Amino acid sequence: MQIIFAERMGFCRGVRRAFDATMALAQQLGDKAGETYMLGDLVHNEQVVARISEAGILQAKSPEALSDARVIIRTHGEAKEVIDLLVAANNQIVDLTCGVVKSVREKAVGLQQRHPAVIVVGKKDHPEVQGLVSYLKNPHVVTEPEEAQKLPDYASVGVVEQTTIERHRYERVRAALVDKYGEGSVEALDTICPHTDENQSASRDVAKRCDIILVVGDAHSSNSRRLLEVCQEENPRSHFLSCVGEIDPSWFPPEGGKRWETLEVGITAGASTPDWTIEGIAAKVRELAGLKE
Ligand code: SF4
Repeated sequence: MQIIFAERMGFCRGVRRAFDATMALAQQLGDKAGETYMLGDLVHNEQVVARISEAGILQAKSPEALSDARVIIRTHGEAKEVIDLLVAANNQIVDLTCGVVKSVREKAVGLQQRHPAVIVVGKKDHPEVQGLVSYLKNPHVVTEPEEAQKLPDYASVGVVEQTTIERHRYERVRAALVDKYGEGSVEALDTICPHTDENQSASRDVAKRCDIILVVGDAHSSNSRRLLEVCQEENPRSHFLSCVGEIDPSWFPPEGGKRWETLEVGITAGASTPDWTIEGIAAKVRELAGLKE
């Protein structure tokens, strides 16, 4: 049995930076770490959030109750009104918004100098999108191509994407916007994070090549769920799991497939999945195969 890991998987640069900085802060503060809050989940992964909580960082669900505290802003960023509220209540901000997310915000603000409206291709309830639109004067969020036809008429529009949106969704929405406003009236900037593209394409490669593919991620992580869809397009034996306890031994070796000796098991993981979860799952697969670590 051989385990093949996707070439690009697990923590992206933005998540790693935020996690490392948070853990370093907790260590530096020691007993005083309890005065520090993360607002919402630092990333969409329960195990990462639990580890940060164990290190002494508190969790706040809403900004209203926070004053005179230290507040960590997650990788997705936060709405401008929320930051203003926190600052007004004398909180110290530790801004761990990913640099890629910030650059999309800057590009969108630039687009609104040139166009009467900015369209964000993304999901309305995603924290990154909620943060982004708070910096814009006349934003519209579009998730499906059909929504494009219902937008108001404008002489021109600027377009940016949520960093983790699926490329095929963006392409379809962009085509619908061109259909509505005309090619010359749509200025679309490609703001999908390179990690998203690379993660999906590396996962696709492994899914094609392996007998079984395990997609590791939190059920609430949309980019991890999307990886499962990508893998399913290539391999019907794609399984989603968030932790080692969710491995089902009956997956191996697949019925009518190869025997353990020649089996190739692929593993990929979403951008918020920590190394320790991936390693734990790989170790369990080796154990099931009867291999020593
Ligand atoms: S996926 Fe990209 S944009 Fe999102 S946190 Fe990671 S590096 Fe930043």
